[in-house]
Amino acid sequence: MTVVVHSRTELARALGDLPDVRLVPTMGALHAGHAALIDAAGPGAVVSVFVNPLQFGAGEDLDRYPRTLDADLELCRAHGAAVVWAPSVDDVYVGGRPVVTVSAGALGARYEGASRPGHFDGMLTVVAKLFGATRADAAYFGQKDAQQLALVRRMVADLDLTTRVEEVATVREPDGLALSSRNRYLSPDERTAALALSRAIRAGSIEAARAVLADAAGVDVDYCDLVDPETFEPVTDRPGRIVVAARVGTTRLLDNELVVGTPLFARALIDNVRVPEMV
Ligand code: AMP
Repeated sequence: MTVVVHSRTELARALGDLPDVRLVPTMGALHAGHAALIDAAGPGAVVSVFVNPLQFGAGEDLDRYPRTLDADLELCRAHGAAVVWAPSVDDVYVGGRPVVTVSAGALGARYEGASRPGHFDGMLTVVAKLFGATRADAAYFGQKDAQQLALVRRMVADLDLTTRVEEVATVREPDGLALSSRNRYLSPDERTAALALSRAIRAGSIEAARAVLADAAGVDVDYCDLVDPETFEPVTDRPGRIVVAARVGTTRLLDNELVVGTPLFARALIDNVRVPEMV
């Protein structure tokens, strides 16, 4: 049975019946990627559905972000969630905008953080609140949002939070497109153009990835880089994660993949050594 709650009081009552809290934080408009997180959490998961205004900048898609609560509840039920917490903005930000917030620091200023100032501070602030409000023992995040995941791990380590962070591989359409709640904004032509992102990150090296994107019509690239998976500093001399963000039409899309790059990179992974400047 899946219980749907809104207020903190209802939440506390529902959580009281659970042996442990395995939390899946989402912004709703749930798809098979979210379902994979709920499955990873196992039967009896707690799913939060909250579009967090704090992580949207002026001119971003807060107002038109898809809200599909009935369908979300169906998906949560089908995947055995015990509790769906769908609070209002006032339920989360009791007393208004928080005075004390979490700062994402330098890790939060790169890439997504550079393109969306304040985004990661808002994201970490609500994640800390969700961890606290639910007293989560574990929380499940997708590799799809790799910088977010790195930041949540870092926050838990730096602030000695007790929630265990678990990560789940990116779920894709059969043709490679990473599932995203924002995919529904794409026209058929844009959806075809968007395939350039998954093709790029699978091209095997950062040079090949950039070449794929350079050839892609209708894809306005924000960044495409090879980064250290934990610090998100750019790397050139060792394996890393290719991260890409691009605008297709008016929709901003992200994707990423771990790469070993050239054979020398692979060798470096095996031998755990740095490759001299050669790429
Ligand atoms: P969102 O609702 O977009 O805030 O995402 C909620 C969680 O679902 C985040 O941890 C995302 O990384 C994760 N997620 C979103 N899309 C995918 C996907 N295609 N595969 C796996 N996890 C995903």
